[in-house]
Amino acid sequence: MSPELAVVGSLNMDLIASAPRIPAPGETIIGHRFHTAAGGKGANQAVAAARLGAQVSMIGRVGDDTYGQAQLSNLAADGVDTAFVKVDPNAHTGVALITVDDAGQNSIVVSSGANWQMSAADVDAAEAAIAGADMLLLQLETRPQVVARAAELAVRHGVPLLLNPAPARSLSPELLAQVTYLIPNESETALLSGQAVTDLGSARNAARKLRQMGVATVVLTLGEQGALLIAEGLEEHVPAFAVDVVDTTAAGDAFVAGFAVAVASGQSLREAMRFAAAAGALATTKLGAQPSLPDLEKVNRLLQGQVAPPVVRSNG
Ligand code: ADP
Repeated sequence: MSPELAVVGSLNMDLIASAPRIPAPGETIIGHRFHTAAGGKGANQAVAAARLGAQVSMIGRVGDDTYGQAQLSNLAADGVDTAFVKVDPNAHTGVALITVDDAGQNSIVVSSGANWQMSAADVDAAEAAIAGADMLLLQLETRPQVVARAAELAVRHGVPLLLNPAPARSLSPELLAQVTYLIPNESETALLSGQAVTDLGSARNAARKLRQMGVATVVLTLGEQGALLIAEGLEEHVPAFAVDVVDTTAAGDAFVAGFAVAVASGQSLREAMRFAAAAGALATTKLGAQPSLPDLEKVNRLLQGQVAPPVVRSNG
């Protein structure tokens, strides 16, 4: 049986222009190429989980415009249930205006639009979808009260809660204590723990601090350094899979979705870490957010090709 996941979060259209360099304030320059790609952390994680075999219900808002319609049809094309994506007549669909220069550096302006109009009442309307899920996935591209209500409903219905605290903002101790699985990257870990993350040792200390703050299981993603799992009686570093990296956009979203699908399917935390790392690695091999998200077959192929076991460390 495929696991059922609910995702409360953002849907954006990414508008991506490549240019020789990032323009200075007041300057206009002529760029090279332009393309659009569906994005937003919520929608990315929903699509990634669906491609990995989960039944996914997306809970969010778009505007009554062409980008919103494109988001809805993209999600539907991947089999994501959009019954709880509200079309807001008074807001535009969230957009990310992205400039990428010849050196691969980017600058990004996100106009949240409908994502920031999402309300706790939107979450209440989807209570049945949350209650029936094997796991709820949350990120931080919606208002704090939306995140808080979603967490509250997950706890009320005994649904494990996965929080990907991105983009970083400080969180209340109450919210952290409700989280079953927290998956931050290095900068989010530093902000939440108040401790600098510079290497594996400091990452481990910061992750332990997050557990002391009440999170049951912490998974710290470390880009090409892989990921670190800290749970009750278990510490494990899983190295990154070696792949040809093209664009790391949405690697974190693919990792989060992979972890959620694996755990909700009954895999062990260790197995889920490898599955997630494979999904994250594959997302770096193609340009863009949703276009780069791998399917189950690709992940399984990478997993089967991998002969070296992950490096295991355990504490007592
Ligand atoms: P975010 O994009 O949220 O900052 P990370 O960069 O930590 O997240 O990436 C998430 C996961 O994706 C990593 O833990 C790793 O497993 C995988 N990943 C990211 N970058 C690479 C890479 N260059 N090569 C292989 N795997 C990668």
